[in-house]
Amino acid sequence: MHSLTKNLLTLLVVTTLAIGCSVTDPKENKTLSVAERRTLERSDNNDIEKKIDELLSQMTMEEKIGQMTQLNNSTIVTESNWGAGSDLSITTKVDTAKLRKILREYHVGSFLNGIAEPAETWFQFYKDIQEINMQESRLKIPIIYGVDHMHGPNYLAGGTVFPHALNTAATYNNQFAADMAHVTAIETADIGHQWLFAPVLDIARTPLWGRYYETLGESPYVSKTMASIYIKAVQAEADIAPYKIAATAKHFLGYSDPKYGWDRGETDMSEQAMYEYHVPSFKAAIDAGIMSVMVNSGEVNGEPVHASYRLLTQLLRDELKFKGVVVTDWEDIIRLYRNHRTAVDEKDATHQAIMAGVDMAMTPYTTAFGDHMRALVKEGKISEERVDLSVSRILRMKLELGLFENPYPRNDRFNRIGTPENRAKALEAARESIVLMKNDNTLPLDPSKIKNLLVAGPNANSKSALAGGWTLRWMTSDETLYPKDMHTIFTGLLKEFPQSRVTLAANINELKSQASKSDAIVLVVGEPAYSEGFGSIQDITLPEDQLALIEAAQATRKPVIVVMISGRPRVITKVYDRCQAVLFGGLPGFEGGQAVAEIISGKVNPSAKMSFNFPKEVNRLVPHNHKISEVLLAHEIPNPICLVPFGSGLSYTTFEYSNITLSDSVITADTGEIKATVTVKNTGNREGKEAVLWFLHDEVASLSRPIRDLKYYDKKLIKPGESAEYSFIIRPNECLWFPDKTGAQILEDGYFTLMVGNQNARFKLKRNN
Ligand code: BGC
Repeated sequence: MHSLTKNLLTLLVVTTLAIGCSVTDPKENKTLSVAERRTLERSDNNDIEKKIDELLSQMTMEEKIGQMTQLNNSTIVTESNWGAGSDLSITTKVDTAKLRKILREYHVGSFLNGIAEPAETWFQFYKDIQEINMQESRLKIPIIYGVDHMHGPNYLAGGTVFPHALNTAATYNNQFAADMAHVTAIETADIGHQWLFAPVLDIARTPLWGRYYETLGESPYVSKTMASIYIKAVQAEADIAPYKIAATAKHFLGYSDPKYGWDRGETDMSEQAMYEYHVPSFKAAIDAGIMSVMVNSGEVNGEPVHASYRLLTQLLRDELKFKGVVVTDWEDIIRLYRNHRTAVDEKDATHQAIMAGVDMAMTPYTTAFGDHMRALVKEGKISEERVDLSVSRILRMKLELGLFENPYPRNDRFNRIGTPENRAKALEAARESIVLMKNDNTLPLDPSKIKNLLVAGPNANSKSALAGGWTLRWMTSDETLYPKDMHTIFTGLLKEFPQSRVTLAANINELKSQASKSDAIVLVVGEPAYSEGFGSIQDITLPEDQLALIEAAQATRKPVIVVMISGRPRVITKVYDRCQAVLFGGLPGFEGGQAVAEIISGKVNPSAKMSFNFPKEVNRLVPHNHKISEVLLAHEIPNPICLVPFGSGLSYTTFEYSNITLSDSVITADTGEIKATVTVKNTGNREGKEAVLWFLHDEVASLSRPIRDLKYYDKKLIKPGESAEYSFIIRPNECLWFPDKTGAQILEDGYFTLMVGNQNARFKLKRNN
């Protein structure tokens, strides 16, 4: 049926292994011995390598296994109450007897986790751990402490909390990825938080999944671009000297596309789709020098990832060239036995995970991992060489971070925490992350003209909803934990509308009774804070009571402004047409209340654009980079197929795109490049920032290609009446290839359509003969 008019050119075959692995049993396809791997992974730093060799030659097997063990801090504190998933309470104070016992018997090399504590508490906690460790550790190997600082230092009381990643992506402004990295590093490195369990590099695929908001949206390009900026910034931050921080790319791989939306669920995907959507952000992270990788707790194509040699060794190490530490996710070795049932018991599970490529087990409550490892080594099922390989990686990370020279925290720079300067960065990020989806000339509301503003909705006066999960606690709705000076949207509006009467209606009846006096109604709807499995849902419609609230507001015939504060799109099609304005606020963090209020009052001109396709129907969850379908061609599927497409977002000014120009109409495969330019004019009457998104479509290819795929973006401030020129350099080896099912990068002759705003142009790729 198809006549292939293009010539195939394999630009780069990643490795011969990559090609072979999809047709042979990966487990038999080991190209490197453990010893060869160890040699290959040696760094250029001879001092570090010498120290690793020395330590390994002196360490007992028990000490080595201890380095591969990571325990939760609840195992070493004086008091902990791990409730039913939320409202965790813990006393962040070391129980010295417990710690000594664990160190003496198991030589544990890493701890993790926490709840928001003041810097002094963290300082003392980490200092105590390290001091006791240095007394107990025969070879003086420092402890490394891991923390989930997902959106700024979210486990540090008084710390600066940024918007979540889904919002960061919507800014289309890379500066905020760098700012968040900088602030996180400055505020936490001194207290021993030198191993960051961020960034999340999973790609948003299904909003049923409760961790959608932790992703940098739907686009692999946005994710890989912001991720590498974040990683480089955090790992190279000079202002935290003498400390350094290691970042973690998580969750490798395919975590975000569970077919039922269940967290830690089953992902079925072709190898081609894996390379197309899920590999790029991790590849970029590895190329940016990421020091650790955390594993996907779910399964891919029937294989739990924690037991997958294919993914953890062949893909991660052999193809993507990762040389750092692979840490499991929470309890996931045990779950190979308990949930996935690929192992007959925990010992078998331990064997599977280590042989697949795991270096460190986040066990996290039990030391049984150590017992299983000792037995497996004794029985000859895991070789000492294999253990040494993992331990060398862990020691290298500790040495590269300078932990051996500077094992102790310091408390003389805490004036750098939560500073006005840092908070200003988080505020700016929040301002640029809120998408104006719809506006019937209602926004902004002029504070001098509004006499009565009515505010309602479950998230109108909530701090926890603005911050979402992974804030102060793993997840909490306890408003008393939040900073006193943090604004909710309601208090933000009180500040922005000082001359108006701003009233909060507590429920639908209050709303109905007060509406007649109001000039406009702001409804803040959405979701409460949740994390992980607690956020997995089966219906993304906005809950019925909230839709009823919107309908009640609409029935009053007053202008209705809906603000959605949630970790994902919730379908509001039923009420959308009769809303005068709609904002998708996402999870904008501690400064989000102020930012939303400033957008409503017009102090801030919104400039965010959707980082995903906002669905119109609950059963049509289609990402922007979908393929062409008969349904789209032959039937009357409305265009756009969603409520607000990826890359869309309004401003209080208007922008006109014109004059798309290409420096050439043909590009040659090896050295060629085309410069594309477009002019964007601010045709409104106030200044505004415009993010320009460049999409490509490969018109005919040997594999079907997305209808559009984001390849570049750039954001600029344009004054009213003025124009700015935006450009994009198109290089074949950067943005014209696609992966096949082996991960090989395929570049083919033929035409491409370039799309930017309402402009498009065509050019041809011609390979060199
Ligand atoms: C999450 C990880 C997190 C870890 C440690 C797990 O449940 O999946 O993202 O880093 O817990 O808190």
